Amino acid sequence: MDFVFPTANARRVYDSYKRRAGTHAILITGEAGVGKRSLAFLLAKTVLCGADDNPCGTCGSCVRVESRTHPDAHCVRPGDNKSRTISVEQIRALIEQISIRSFEGGAKAVIIENADGMQPAAQNALLKSLEEPPGDVFFFLTASRRLDLLPTIRSRCAWLHLPPLDIERTADILKSQGFDAKLANEAALYAEGSVGQAADYAKTSAEYVRAVESALASVGHAIDIPFAAKKILDLSQKKSGADGGYSALDIIERYISRLNGFDSEGRIRIYGAIEDSRKRDALFLPKQQTMEDLLAVIMEER
Ligand SMILES: [Zn+2]
Repeated sequence: MDFVFPTANARRVYDSYKRRAGTHAILITGEAGVGKRSLAFLLAKTVLCGADDNPCGTCGSCVRVESRTHPDAHCVRPGDNKSRTISVEQIRALIEQISIRSFEGGAKAVIIENADGMQPAAQNALLKSLEEPPGDVFFFLTASRRLDLLPTIRSRCAWLHLPPLDIERTADILKSQGFDAKLANEAALYAEGSVGQAADYAKTSAEYVRAVESALASVGHAIDIPFAAKKILDLSQKKSGADGGYSALDIIERYISRLNGFDSEGRIRIYGAIEDSRKRDALFLPKQQTMEDLLAVIMEER
């Protein structure tokens, strides 16, 4: 198994499930992108996989947990309702499913993603199952903040917190997911410790970021500015169709932060100009003019 654990504690928790000694309910907390969901799915595979070296990652059980089609692995997450919450109906349906005998005759796993999105009534409905889990049921809850859950839920779950990752570890995780080393390092640096964002960068944003940076680098004289500004805006418009990722101004800010050719006052002036640009974009002022003004400030300071 080539899973890279975000912390030594996370590895210890996994080891306990591997030894079939894991607790029946665990809450995994941490900021977006630190690997809560990946770990929850890994633990669910671990309790359901029958191989000695569990999870093997290749048996029918492991594959179906991963694709969310395992009849004994139940995933609940905030619905598409307006408030992005987990409703009491969702939890009641879950409880009904886990109360029947397991399809494969073994354990059952429940993954509740963003459990802090459970409405209070939903949390109360879940309580009894957490207290006396029917059969061999394991609950894996993820949340950004533990304190957003009712005390009664918190007290019935073991707790594992995943802190933000350092850049090296983020890169290692991406490499274990098959990204080449150079791209993994670049993405990890860019996403500042969020594996989720780094993976998004490696999958969809790397090319876009490089194109914006090369347009920035092409500005040598005032006459280059209108063309470079248009190029950057075209790139960012094309990109905005895809989900997630970074705005052109985010990319410019990071690009400037990596360059050494400014004194600190120059850098402060450029950061100020970037903030001005954000404000002007929010007011829907002409983007071309805003970008040209920003590029002019950057060129002056170099
Ligand atoms: Zn397996």
